Amino acid sequence: MTQPVFFIGPRGCGKTTVGQALAREQNWDFVDTDHWLQERAQMNVAAIVEKEGWEGFRARETQALQSVAAPSTVVATGGGMVLADVNRHFMREAGRVIYLRAPVSVLAARLEAFPEEGQRPALTGKPLGEEIRDVLAEREALYSETAHYIIDAAQPLERIIADVLAVLSTPASSGLRLYS
Ligand code: ADP
Ligand code: MG
Repeated sequence: MTQPVFFIGPRGCGKTTVGQALAREQNWDFVDTDHWLQERAQMNVAAIVEKEGWEGFRARETQALQSVAAPSTVVATGGGMVLADVNRHFMREAGRVIYLRAPVSVLAARLEAFPEEGQRPALTGKPLGEEIRDVLAEREALYSETAHYIIDAAQPLERIIADVLAVLSTPASSGLRLYS
């Protein structure tokens, strides 16, 4: 692999977990855009949003994306990365984009079990399951259209990694979808 690989999808779909495991296994670099921008800002996401609004956070997110994209690098993105047209375009042009797709029930169960992993200000103030459903309904089309490939993220980690390696061995134009 020389082009970067970008993982996209909602909170809890496994972008960080899968990205890290893949990078370790393949000896590639790994960067998490949320982590990168928080280090750089010396503030967590909640503090950035409080100080600069979501607009300020989104601007930092775009800067992070463009800064970390490098050859042989696995990039885990934030759940809202696909909202900006400039980010969607950048990822498709600069590398290969994989959507880790999972049903609402799986996402909700993971975030409930490990709330600290997905720590973010609530987007809507609704109960978790409802918020996930609403956010996904709003973003599903963006995740799908931005992705070169779609993988079933409800599988065990090893299966997901195997699917990732399988899709990456096909051209981006194959549009492989290992998801029913
Ligand atoms: P994201 O970075 O997309 O928000 P994470 O990688 O932080 O998601 O994963 C969210 C939670 O779900 C973590 O607690 C992680 O351990 C768990 N998780 C991720 N992928 C899987 C998987 N394939 N099977 C079971 N649990 C998973
Ligand atoms: Mg993450």
